[in-house]
Amino acid sequence: MALRQIRTLGDPVLEKKCREVKEMTPRLKELVDDMLETMYQAEGVGLAAPQVGVLRRIVVIDVGEGPIVMVNPQIVEQSGEQCGQEGCLSVPGQAGEVTRPNYVKAQALDVNMQPFEVEGTELLARAICHELDHLEGIMYVTKVNGDLYNVEDAPEEEEETETEAEKEEN
Ligand code: ZN
Repeated sequence: MALRQIRTLGDPVLEKKCREVKEMTPRLKELVDDMLETMYQAEGVGLAAPQVGVLRRIVVIDVGEGPIVMVNPQIVEQSGEQCGQEGCLSVPGQAGEVTRPNYVKAQALDVNMQPFEVEGTELLARAICHELDHLEGIMYVTKVNGDLYNVEDAPEEEEETETEAEKEEN
C-alpha cells in the first residue's frame, strides 16, 4: 500500500468523466487499498479515484462506520433534503453549504465485483452523492449555496472550542 497524491481544484483530471470498471485487476485492487490509506491519512470521509488521478468509477467512503468500497456505483433511490457543510480533500481548508438528498440508496460492486446495496441518511447520503459526483467530473464547489469559506471561520468550530473550555472548567 502507498499514499497517493491528492489532486486539487484546478487539476483538469477532476473535471473528467470516469470509465466503468469491467474487470477487477491486481492493479485496481492496489488502487483501492491506496485510496483507503490516502483517505484515512488525510482524515477524509470519502475519496474518489479521479482525486488520485485515475479516471475509473471507484469510490471509498468511511463516515465512521467502517470502509465502504464502491465500484461502478449508481444511485437508485433518493428522497428528502438536507442542507449542510461540505468539504473535499481536493479543496483543502475550505467548505461550503450544499443541498443534498437526506436519504440515498446506491447499488455498486464490491472489490470482488459482487453486487451490493448501500442505504444512507445524513452524512452517509451526503458522502455518497459527493463521491459519485466526482465520477462525473462534478466538483461540489459548483453546487455551493453562497460562497466557499475557510474552515477555520466555520461557526461550528468556535462552538466546539467553547464546549471544550467549559469541560476544562468543570
Ligand atoms: Zn470531494
